[in-house]
Amino acid sequence: MSSPSAENPPSTTGSAPRLRVAPSPTGDPHVGTAYMALFNLAFARQQGGSFVLRIEDTDRARFDETSERQLYDTLGWLGLTWDEGPDVGGPFAPYRQSERLDTYRPYVEKLIEEGHAYYCWCSTERLTAMREKQQKLKLPTGYDRLCVGKTQEERAELEGYSETPVVRMLVPEDAPTTFEDVIRGTVSAPLPDDQVILKADGFPTYHLAVVVDDHEMGITHVVRGEEWISSTPKHVLLYRWLGLEAPKFAHMPLLRNQNKSKISKRKNPEARLTWFQEQGYLPEAVVNFLGLLAYPPAKGESGEDVEKFTVEEFSREFAWDKVNTVGPIFDLKKLEWLNGAWIRGLELADLSARVLPYLQADGVLGEDPGAEDLARLESIAELIQTRMNLLTEASALVRPFYVADEELEIAEDARAGLKDTAGEVLDAALAALEPLAAATGEGNQWHAAEIERVLREAIVDGMGIKPRLAFGPLRTAVSGQKISPPLFESMEILGRDSTLGRLRALRSSLA
Ligand code: GLU
Repeated sequence: MSSPSAENPPSTTGSAPRLRVAPSPTGDPHVGTAYMALFNLAFARQQGGSFVLRIEDTDRARFDETSERQLYDTLGWLGLTWDEGPDVGGPFAPYRQSERLDTYRPYVEKLIEEGHAYYCWCSTERLTAMREKQQKLKLPTGYDRLCVGKTQEERAELEGYSETPVVRMLVPEDAPTTFEDVIRGTVSAPLPDDQVILKADGFPTYHLAVVVDDHEMGITHVVRGEEWISSTPKHVLLYRWLGLEAPKFAHMPLLRNQNKSKISKRKNPEARLTWFQEQGYLPEAVVNFLGLLAYPPAKGESGEDVEKFTVEEFSREFAWDKVNTVGPIFDLKKLEWLNGAWIRGLELADLSARVLPYLQADGVLGEDPGAEDLARLESIAELIQTRMNLLTEASALVRPFYVADEELEIAEDARAGLKDTAGEVLDAALAALEPLAAATGEGNQWHAAEIERVLREAIVDGMGIKPRLAFGPLRTAVSGQKISPPLFESMEILGRDSTLGRLRALRSSLA
């Protein structure tokens, strides 16, 4: 037969490594896909190699049409971008396995011709009954090889026959079950069963497609989750039978919950990549967090742990022998802390731009905010930057700056928290602020420093009320909340009229 490779295969003999992430489009993208993409990408970038996105859509029963777009969107959002893939093309296109069915066929034929694979006509019912019996008798489960050495006619005479065969690997007793892993060294796995490689619908299974495609696409390092360790001996056998050089393997530890169970989309909302965006995490913080999960933090100048890093920094220092092999615990508290650290590091214009969509989604700002509203947002951004860990927390802090004075609602807990002195405090504040002129900014009277000075003088010094009690009612009047951005700066941004209006409104609502 002719060589199984494509007619004019692009050269894959270059020395630069080629890595890939190969998700299956089965619903919302899993956080594990981003985690794998990060480690693949880090090594590819460091080595000046290529990073490929391949869509493994051979499981037609679990195929989900919207999933592929979500993969592009979420990985793109995280900045884990690929050099080749179904959307951007590349020298080894197509990158979707469902479009590569003709590629796999000659490999299957070669395996059958050389006695390494065989047709199996057993019906699903027969296979199920066989498995149940094995389980009942506590025998190892596996195909009993009824079809081995039989022609279709011979097999058709027997029970449990199906017209459309599958193709199985004929795994010898002495098949190698150990392989070298870049992270783990020598790894052993159980002897494989006679794995199906071509399904009755004509689609290859993952095991055949992954080997053929990794070979055809010149993949040098297969970096994937540890759940694939038990499959690797099958892949090693296929490479050997097909006379192909196997890539290097690196099996990453699985992400785990606090109780050590595997993170699953069914049980954990945070297993879905779209969740992180919804919750107000920054993409930089998410990839940073994913890196830290399986990798020790870098060391700073005085030996301290440096936990905050960019993908570029991560990639520069990356080394396989530092990857943890123990299942990392997915600690959302840590992610939240890291997100806060990233938020505090943003330029104000950037922070404003990042909170804007969340403010719009919460109706704080409209679809198309005017220049004045946007300028105000940048001043507010400075006040809230240290007060939030998630972008979704911005709306509550920012809303008071955009509601009309008469529409400001006073939160229940804030009103309940007002002390007996609140009325007096508000009166004193009004008396102190009314004489100030409305012009804002440095050197003017309606400036945070000047506002603070007159209020302290009137309430803390003048009335002898402690600052916490002195400013609580003012905070509630201005923001409607118990906790708010810094008070004096907020008053400056709101302006004289709104501030006085809000103080009067709360004052008059107190009996
Ligand atoms: N399609 C497999 C998955 O969804 C890819 C595994 C591999 O990288 O070989 O995890």
